[in-house]
Amino acid sequence: MRQVGHWYLRLDEEMMVEISPEEREAVLDRARGIIRSVEAMEFPATPDYNTCRFCDYADLCDDRYQ
Ligand code: SF4
Repeated sequence: MRQVGHWYLRLDEEMMVEISPEEREAVLDRARGIIRSVEAMEFPATPDYNTCRFCDYADLCDDRYQ
């Protein structure tokens, strides 16, 4: 078991939880996938009503939720 967590800067508090090796590997796999997408310059839009209505780029985005 290892610990991972968040550090809340405003509160200067840490919240740690234990994760299994399998959970750790799943997180690393997801991160590796994101890194590969960034390196390949692949940023597919994921329009969603609740996301797009608060997005600062909605007026410029051809993929915004209609
Ligand atoms: S408006 Fe475009 S950039 Fe903004 S959240 Fe929606 S799809 Fe993404």
